Formats: sequence, C-alpha cells, structure tokens
Amino acid sequence: MHLMNKMAEYKCFNCGKIVKSDTVKKRVRCPYCGSKILFKPRTVNVKVKAE
Ligand SMILES: [Zn+2]
Repeated sequence: MHLMNKMAEYKCFNCGKIVKSDTVKKRVRCPYCGSKILFKPRTVNVKVKAE
C-alpha cells in the first residue's frame, strides 16, 4: 500500500479554516488567526464495493 497523506488537511480549532499540512510542517500554527490548535478532521472512508 502506498497511501501517503500528502494532501492532508488540518482544521483550525479557532477559526475553522482549512490549513494545509504543508503549512503545518513548517510551523504548527494557523496562518489565518495564529492559533496553535489544529486538528485533523477525519477523512471519510470511501468504501469500494466489489460485486
Ligand atoms: Zn485559525
């Protein structure tokens, strides 16, 4: 499996804006409001049905 979280996104707990993981890599901080509380919203699991 090669499922990297390259496109991972974080959400600012304070302003609710989406912060790219690329930004977080350098500094864990919301670029919009400066909040340091970011959380990772759960990604929806896409279920593939093989019938
Ligand atoms: Zn923010």
